[in-house]
Amino acid sequence: MTQAVTIVGAGWAGLAAAIKATQQGWTVHLIEATQTPGGRAKSVNHQGKVFDNGQHALIGAYQETLSLMKTLGLEPDALFERQGLGWCYSSGAPFGLPKDTLPFKTLRSLLLNARFSPLEKLSLLKPVQFWIKHRFLSPSDTSVAQLFHGVSDTLMRDIISPLCLSALNTPLDRASASTFVRVLKDAFSNPPDSCSFLFPKKPLSDIFPIRSLEWLKSRGARIELGRRIDALNDIDVNAPCILAVPAWQAAKLTRDSHPNWSGMAGGLTHKAIASVYIKGHPKESRRGERTALQSQLVCFNEHMELDNCVHPQFGIRLNAQAMQTPLIPPALQGTPPEHWALIVSVADPHRRQDIVQNAMAVARNQLGLEDLDMQFCTIEKRATFSCEALSKRPPTVIAQGLFACGDYVQGPYPSTLEGAVRSGLRAVACLDKKQTGAPVNPGV
Ligand SMILES: Cc1cc2nc3c(=O)[nH]c(=O)nc-3n(C[C@H](O)[C@H](O)[C@H](O)COP(=O)(O)OP(=O)(O)OC[C@H]3O[C@@H](n4cnc5c(N)ncnc54)[C@H](O)[C@@H]3O)c2cc1C
Repeated sequence: MTQAVTIVGAGWAGLAAAIKATQQGWTVHLIEATQTPGGRAKSVNHQGKVFDNGQHALIGAYQETLSLMKTLGLEPDALFERQGLGWCYSSGAPFGLPKDTLPFKTLRSLLLNARFSPLEKLSLLKPVQFWIKHRFLSPSDTSVAQLFHGVSDTLMRDIISPLCLSALNTPLDRASASTFVRVLKDAFSNPPDSCSFLFPKKPLSDIFPIRSLEWLKSRGARIELGRRIDALNDIDVNAPCILAVPAWQAAKLTRDSHPNWSGMAGGLTHKAIASVYIKGHPKESRRGERTALQSQLVCFNEHMELDNCVHPQFGIRLNAQAMQTPLIPPALQGTPPEHWALIVSVADPHRRQDIVQNAMAVARNQLGLEDLDMQFCTIEKRATFSCEALSKRPPTVIAQGLFACGDYVQGPYPSTLEGAVRSGLRAVACLDKKQTGAPVNPGV
């Protein structure tokens, strides 16, 4: 007889856990509070158009996420636009890593980059030596600002800050250096495919969450959408349970029965991300140009404020397919509009109007667009946990028979899709070790 497992939450962590558990012969009962799977990484309808609930990008190093997609029979190259790891600025030389198999990609790309003076390049020597000495494992955690202390202001503004904000969504003076270095190591190491950005070609929900539910249903999983679990004793006590809900929800559900674990989950702080979706036509002066702005990712390096930001730091060009825009043959179209998502990391969630105004100004002045149409603005207040040096993340095992997964659970990654997926796989690995069988909610 197969054993049953209850999974609460159908975000990317819960879905990954459900798929892995099904593969391993468990009978999955998946419970999700909303009517749609995907959690923070899904698509939403706004005035009849489909947008992602915040623009996402993956990197080629997200091996577990990409391999899970292959399990579902999906081909990542059909789902994502792949671009070398790098970006351009609205002026000056771009930053990009070579797509070869030779070591020290970052160092080589920086040394060859015309944007930085020899003196500025020299300022990187100390932190790089430190990394190499410690084999890319920081011996004790410190902040990213501390790790790069002494590095030139331009390098901090143009390279380190954008990397840190996009990977950790945490201000530099607090961001965990060891997590940052770990992400860089995975992204910048071989094979060459790790070293790339993957931009969704389709709405996020179509890429993974909906396909996952179809796959699970066809394999006999029981799926309950629209059911919120408000207390642990709402769950079948005879089956092990994986809580795949966000940190604050998991803290609430375990507050009375497992106060230590709950305290750790509830003690994490969170940061917002704003995404402003804008459509516009390239100005006359930009038409036909093959400028840096033809690239899919632009970094607006003027505004790398520390925290509570209201200026976009990145612009991601969206393709027509992702925006479900009819593809008109070139002979029949005028100058087609461009679609961009302007991203504000560590955003101030209370200043929506400023965020939208600044995004419009950037689209006009730096992306060279006119006839602007602000189509959608979404600000996710608790987009990611604040990945700070020495922050204590709760472990996978809460108690016998009760496990947690989610982007905040202990692991090598910050709040990312890969972090969420890996945590789901880890929770199932714990099930496999037969840490099951006891009532889910002892003491409740
Ligand atoms: C705007 C934005 C941009 C981002 N950009 C990127 C990016 O570019 N790259 C990247 O890798 N990551 C990015 N992230 C982070 C990524 O989206 C998250 O790390 C990931 O989606 C978290 O997944 P999760 O399954 O851990 O949690 P969630 O997505 O929060 O899923 C939890 C699920 O549990 C459900 N739930 C909650 N409470 C209950 C309950 N009581 N009962 C039943 N169900 C419940 C929720 O409805 C939800 O479906 C971004 C996030 C945001 C918000």
